[in-house]
Amino acid sequence: MTDSRKYAMHDDARCNFWASTLAEQPTSRPRLAGNVQADVAIVGAGFTGLWTAYYLKRLSPELAIVVLEAERVGHGASGRNGGWVVGNLAGLERHIGDLPLKERRDCCGVVADNVDEIGRVLAREGIAADFNKGGALYAAARYRDQIAIQRDYLHHLHELGHSEEDCHWLDAEQLAEKAHFRDGYGGIYHRQVATLNPAKLVAGLAELVERLGVTIHEHSRATELGRNVVSTHEGSVEAPTVVCATEGYADRFHDFKRHVIPVQSLVIATEPLSDATWQAVGMSERLAFSDASRLINYGHRTADGRIVFGARGNYRLGARPKADQAIGDEAIRMRRDLLVDLLPALEGVRIDYGWGGSLGLSRNFRPHAIFDHTSGLATAGGYAGEGVAASHLFGRTLADLILERDTHLARMPWAFTNASHRQLIKRWEAEPLRWLAAQAITYSYAGEESLMRRGKSAPLLKRVNDYFASIIE
Ligand SMILES: Cc1cc2nc3c(=O)[nH]c(=O)nc-3n(C[C@H](O)[C@H](O)[C@H](O)COP(=O)(O)OP(=O)(O)OC[C@H]3O[C@@H](n4cnc5c(N)ncnc54)[C@H](O)[C@@H]3O)c2cc1C
Repeated sequence: MTDSRKYAMHDDARCNFWASTLAEQPTSRPRLAGNVQADVAIVGAGFTGLWTAYYLKRLSPELAIVVLEAERVGHGASGRNGGWVVGNLAGLERHIGDLPLKERRDCCGVVADNVDEIGRVLAREGIAADFNKGGALYAAARYRDQIAIQRDYLHHLHELGHSEEDCHWLDAEQLAEKAHFRDGYGGIYHRQVATLNPAKLVAGLAELVERLGVTIHEHSRATELGRNVVSTHEGSVEAPTVVCATEGYADRFHDFKRHVIPVQSLVIATEPLSDATWQAVGMSERLAFSDASRLINYGHRTADGRIVFGARGNYRLGARPKADQAIGDEAIRMRRDLLVDLLPALEGVRIDYGWGGSLGLSRNFRPHAIFDHTSGLATAGGYAGEGVAASHLFGRTLADLILERDTHLARMPWAFTNASHRQLIKRWEAEPLRWLAAQAITYSYAGEESLMRRGKSAPLLKRVNDYFASIIE
């Protein structure tokens, strides 16, 4: 390495597969030092902060924009996720459930098109992030009971406003043409899902916005938010508009963590699979896959022929975000066993990487894009594990809201102006209540899974789960 000041290997590359694909990583961008003025200050250099900066600059090139990142670009979930780019929003029904069908269809069209739009922007801007639109399978792949779960989910998607063309049922034979699960009973094919390498995207996006004139300061943790001013230990940015883009990494900054808490999610990556193994697994279109379990699991075939697979989040007492990336052997083994249970052809395959991070869960269980004109404070997040595509849509929306553009996006039900996050998002309950509730939900879901595994239905547990779902409304 010739210029060790500029480039250094990233420690995260030892456990995070995506980080390992970045051959050279710029060493820290300069810290914020002293007091500066800007038009927009953005806190957090993940997808939300960077997409917001990108669209602001594209729409209004004269704006002076400063991004403050506590660690490195992509330190949060954006550099660590499973790489699914989903044409849906987690919690969409909470925004549009009561609207007339025509409007619901329109909103579903916006979130579905967002996937194609991401592909177009990456191509136009020359960001090579292994974007591949292969669709996704939501399969009944292990137990017969999963057929009904997935059928219900498909019905829900159509009721919501997703088209038959975008989401349709595959019978066992059609499913087997796409992937060879242990017991592929059938499943949903969702056409509007792509996959990508998130570390390449976040790194490429940061370089792109810098080329457009945005300043990014790393190791510059915002410690205080005053009226139109954000301070770090070594300086401050004075700006009429401040964007908080910290999602599941808000920590002690301002009061965002009272409304959006971090939930951990852990991921593994296999070694590159041989051609023979891929023959046995299928997935030639490099699609994404998941099976029906409330203990969510999701995977996809990477550009270099591995499987990246994530499953089962958890919540840490005190809502601490996961700063480090490493995860333990037991956590890796559990995910490996689940993956092999889904795809038995992977028996004996080596797991090369295992890592984790935090995603943001809003107390309203739906994502938001908010710009409070009165205070000049904007924020977006609460994507609940579906933020790769959503952060693009919401960053773009924030740019429209901040620039007061009367666009279709600015009129979507998840876009809010003239109110603060405090008015729009409920506060999470105090500890240990939310930790105890999270434990109870996790154990009852695990119990449900174990009963399904033994071919038994779980009416009592369903009632327990429904009860918890109702008290957290
Ligand atoms: C393991 C895992 C798997 C996932 N898989 C998927 C998936 O497959 N598909 C999908 O759609 N979504 C997935 N997600 C969710 C998705 O990654 C996130 O929703 C999305 O990346 C959020 O982007 P963001 O920019 O809002 O937040 P982040 O990427 O979390 O960025 C927030 C940034 O703010 C910085 N920050 C925090 N506090 C401060 C401060 N005080 N000052 C300055 N900076 C600060 C942090 O360091 C961080 O870099 C996953 C998440 C995880 C953790």
